Amino acid sequence: MPRGKSQQPEPTVHAPYGELPRDGTVRPMTRWGAPVMHHAQRPVETYDDALRSLVADMTATMYAADGVGLAACQIGVDLAVFVFDCPDASGDHWAGVVCNPRLVLPEGRERRLDDSEEGCLSFPGAFVPCARPDFAAVEGHGLDGEPVRFEGDGLLARCLQHEIDHTAGTVFGDRLATRARKKLQKQHDAAVPDYPAEWPT
Ligand code: ZN
Repeated sequence: MPRGKSQQPEPTVHAPYGELPRDGTVRPMTRWGAPVMHHAQRPVETYDDALRSLVADMTATMYAADGVGLAACQIGVDLAVFVFDCPDASGDHWAGVVCNPRLVLPEGRERRLDDSEEGCLSFPGAFVPCARPDFAAVEGHGLDGEPVRFEGDGLLARCLQHEIDHTAGTVFGDRLATRARKKLQKQHDAAVPDYPAEWPT
């Protein structure tokens, strides 16, 4: 998911399960319409060097595209894993990797919808409002198979839900009414020259 309009010069970054691997290679962004984007991803079963190398490439690609989250399918890999480095409502950044993610919408908490704008690195240059719960948690596994859990509000809540959706083969356009979807398409079409096929390499 792209950063959008929220930006902070020197945020505090929390990475409770370890930093994202930073020795990866930037890869071209896979776009909506590619088959890999539209089916549930294969679960991660092996926590090895190949997984770490994939996650390093995902991380490099996310930062090159000025994104706050990226799923493996967005670089063309059919595997249920995503990375993120995203601010919460207070502006603090949370960073991590989640394999085989499960969305947890907490009970016993008033459930409110946040109708802020959302975009997708795989449909670049376009943002429209998308209603989602304003707080979310994700449970899954880290790079060594250890259990991990992240939760948060603000853009982080949106990002976690957006990336979990990717691992299930859902893009946020699937969640929009026809009119909003058309508006999104129009913005994207106008921005196409800014995002050649090899972007963000
Ligand atoms: Zn996306």
